[in-house]
Amino acid sequence: SQTPPHCTGGTRLGSPGRAACCSGRRCGRQQAMSSVNGTLFLNYQPQVDVRSGKVVGAEALLRWNRPGQGPVPPDRFVELAEDIGLIGRIGAWVLEEACRVAAAWPEPIAIAVNVSPSQFRLPRFYKGLVGALGRSGLEPWRLQVEITEGILLNDTEETLDELKRIRAFGVSIAMDDFGTGYSSLSYLQKFRFDKIKIDRTFVNRLADDPNAVAIVRAVVGFSEALGVIANAEGVETAAQAEVLRAEGCLEVQGYLYGRPMSSEAFVRMLYAARQNEFAAQPRERART
Ligand code: C2E
Ligand code: MG
Ligand code: MG
Ligand code: MG
Repeated sequence: SQTPPHCTGGTRLGSPGRAACCSGRRCGRQQAMSSVNGTLFLNYQPQVDVRSGKVVGAEALLRWNRPGQGPVPPDRFVELAEDIGLIGRIGAWVLEEACRVAAAWPEPIAIAVNVSPSQFRLPRFYKGLVGALGRSGLEPWRLQVEITEGILLNDTEETLDELKRIRAFGVSIAMDDFGTGYSSLSYLQKFRFDKIKIDRTFVNRLADDPNAVAIVRAVVGFSEALGVIANAEGVETAAQAEVLRAEGCLEVQGYLYGRPMSSEAFVRMLYAARQNEFAAQPRERART
């Protein structure tokens, strides 16, 4: 099978996924989108199972290199994109690109995509999500939508129905930055999330703050009771990881396991892990 001719110009802003000559699933190449000023692209950060140490997924993180200014932090330009009404098109491109790239990975692992409140509220959001899955061939269960509590602040009934529709299609839903917003617990009662991501402001104090440990213990406790996966974000040190393991947190993500990286680097990481596994196998067989 040959890689189709590559569109070096990237996807045009006005038509996410459409202008690309290589949106087919055979092309594993990194594709960038020309933005108003500069280039948008995605990085991928591994999500790791605490007990097995295996990479079980990745989070797609948007990057913008502004000519002459270098990288602009995503929280800042996502807000800007919302203000100038560009978030719908950028968000649609992120979904399209993340699904296309993940469909070409050598393992059927999950890909998490951040969705901002105003993007989620667009009437065409659901259709775009279903379309991105269809065009990429990615199985819906491999896609995870990360939302923040901000989504649930207004129009709650409608929002909950929309979340249910997405989940009924097979896509999973994670609550991001848990503990930093408003009345998080009431949302957990109203909607069955698949994952709760403990914000890194709690995680980075785990090694020396008993209050942070108590909070993580409580979140892990009710995650278990609700049958939800607890993910700890921003794990940077082995000491933090040790506390998380001891507290029974299932999934970790952070610089300790891998910084956000290109899809190519991420795939190399998957292959390296696979090779280590093969290397370990004969010894394990000999023991039994
Ligand atoms: P987030 O979804 O909570 O993403 C986690 C952030 O923590 C990322 O920052 C990631 O690079 C950073 N991080 C991961 N591990 C560590 C660590 O060990 N230490 C530290 N100090 N930081 C770590 P990033 O990439 O700057 O993204 C910031 C926020 O921008 C994201 O927070 C998310 O809310 C938003 N964002 C990123 N990409 C997108 C996107 O495609 N769409 C939307 N709507 N928002 C996005
Ligand atoms: Mg996130
Ligand atoms: Mg977060
Ligand atoms: Mg955030």
